[in-house]
Amino acid sequence: MGTKDSDLSNKASNDAAKPNIAFIGLGNMGAPMAENLLKAGYALSVYDLSEEATQRLQQAGASVADSPKDAASNAQVVISMLPAGKHVHSVYLGENGAAGLLAELPKGTLVIDSSTIAAADARMVAESASKLGIDFLDAPVSGGTGGAIAGTLTFIVGGSADAFAKAEPILAVMGKNIFHAGNHGAGQVAKICNNMLLGILMAGTAEAINLGVKNGLDPKVLSDIMLQSSGRNWTLEVYNPYPQVMENVPSSNGYKGGFMSKLMQKDLNLAMQTAKDTDVETPMGAKATELYAAHTVENGDRDFSSIMARHDSSVLS
Ligand code: NAD
Repeated sequence: MGTKDSDLSNKASNDAAKPNIAFIGLGNMGAPMAENLLKAGYALSVYDLSEEATQRLQQAGASVADSPKDAASNAQVVISMLPAGKHVHSVYLGENGAAGLLAELPKGTLVIDSSTIAAADARMVAESASKLGIDFLDAPVSGGTGGAIAGTLTFIVGGSADAFAKAEPILAVMGKNIFHAGNHGAGQVAKICNNMLLGILMAGTAEAINLGVKNGLDPKVLSDIMLQSSGRNWTLEVYNPYPQVMENVPSSNGYKGGFMSKLMQKDLNLAMQTAKDTDVETPMGAKATELYAAHTVENGDRDFSSIMARHDSSVLS
């Protein structure tokens, strides 16, 4: 069936209504998120410190910028997906006396930071943005690289209701569930609660599989049993830590890609700091933090499911 003229003009007017987006940070998560925005017809200008990362997006149709400022020069919306708070701080607020990106943005720009950082850092950037008339949202995600590729991430957003309403159609391109958790920083608090639980679940799942294997069970058979029993959890459903139990997960690919152990360690530390600051007990979170701290000494760049190697180093070979 041919495309009707009216369909074409609708598409053209829809695309015209779409804001230009600057996307900063094109790693394991940022690259597929940016690709989904391109596929949905958004014009994207991208920036990353790594040339390899920007090349991938250039091939997908983005224009590559030389700096965050250059990327944002014609954008109404800025999205960032950076490793940690210090990177977010340096991009938006600047470092070594140099001004950050916020100082360069026109009033009314919408800034969405999807990195996982401390709620206090997110609030600090939000406050600076607000003084300049810029809307800032903390919008960390859950769902892993698989969710980023499939466009099924969960976005957990903190900030004003107005800014949330503006961001929602853009986030809906990259995610399936979009939550407004509360005001600035609320997205980050919810995210670290989730990731503390994820760290506990991954460490516990690896421990249970190891116990079974050391007692003669096949890891796949045991995983299938637990998946249909009360030990069922996200790691067993989509991210099994034992090699070759599941296809297309980091454990079946030498623990490459995915969510690096050092990033899980960062999130657990953020959870522990928040617990300490607010006088909340988190004994299971503390144990997971201890396990990941030891694990990242040698395995920081491997996916976080490589915590399996704590029990059986042969899984790394
Ligand atoms: P990554 O290390 O793969 O990617 C980060 C990218 O940011 C890299 O390409 C790096 O070159 C770039 N970068 C660093 N500093 C920069 C700067 N100053 N300017 C421009 N680019 C810069 O990390 P990732 O796995 O994509 O994770 C990004 C964020 O998302 C982290 O906060 C992480 O905790 C969170 N997260 C990751 C996952 C996951 O499964 N990987 C899931 C949920 C949330």
